[in-house]
Amino acid sequence: MAKRKIVKSGERKPVMRSLWRGLTRHCPHCGEGKIFNGYLSVQEHCAVCGNNNEQYPADDAAPYFTIFLVGHILVPLLLIANRYWETPTELAVFLPATFFLTLALLPFIKGGVIGVEYAMGVIREALPGKPHAAELAGAPPPGAP
Ligand SMILES: [Zn+2]
Repeated sequence: MAKRKIVKSGERKPVMRSLWRGLTRHCPHCGEGKIFNGYLSVQEHCAVCGNNNEQYPADDAAPYFTIFLVGHILVPLLLIANRYWETPTELAVFLPATFFLTLALLPFIKGGVIGVEYAMGVIREALPGKPHAAELAGAPPPGAP
């Protein structure tokens, strides 16, 4: 797959509303349709409003924020547990906890990232031969005079 540049469409929407819709794994545009059609695969178009949700480049931001959050949840608990538990017990508890908490939070964080990108107008550049998402929304494409 060709690497596409990330551009801003120039449109801005309410950030907190879009963030909440994304965190609840709903379409950031209408808040009703599901944003994912699997664990992490984004539906190309919302089943309710038809918004192209695949144009928002979540890429590495969702794993980054997920690891950041999981670390801030589990490291203090690990430091407390370190005073009372032996190392094998800590490993038996915290390795699975890290694994499952990361997998549990990742779809919600990815939805949140997509929601913020929707609000801020951050989208992928159009593929050659296809119209830019901003053009589809009725706005001039980025860089147009
Ligand atoms: Zn929608």
